[in-house]
Amino acid sequence: MTQNDTLFGKILRREIPATIVYEDDDVLGFKDIAPQAPVHVLFIPKHVLVPTMDDLLPEQAALVGKLVLAAAEYARREGFAQDGYRVVINCREHAGQTVFHLHLHLLAGAPLGHFGVPGR
Ligand code: 5GP
Repeated sequence: MTQNDTLFGKILRREIPATIVYEDDDVLGFKDIAPQAPVHVLFIPKHVLVPTMDDLLPEQAALVGKLVLAAAEYARREGFAQDGYRVVINCREHAGQTVFHLHLHLLAGAPLGHFGVPGR
């Protein structure tokens, strides 16, 4: 599989529009098209396509660290790090993963509700 195969690969190559809010050598961050919080940014690796968290290899551990650090850097830069935020990686069906290109959600900007199975 190559980056050509996913929607996020197209965003990475600027073939479809997205509001890009963060970029470094390894990570691209862009606003989610259907935000679930006042701040909802998706962070993706630029050079490696991993479909799901379950496909990660031990030698790709740094890649996840870079996504997390990018989100933390963005939160500090935008001034909401002290208020707090949540990061989420959805993996496959029960988590509702819809785009099979590893991505980290950053949610912030207001107190966030609990998460998990509704009603618990
Ligand atoms: P998942 O459910 O796979 O963890 O997250 C995929 C996310 O991608 C969803 O929150 C969804 O709103 C977002 N998304 C889907 N299509 C697009 C798009 O074309 N542009 C952007 N910016 N986000 C998208």
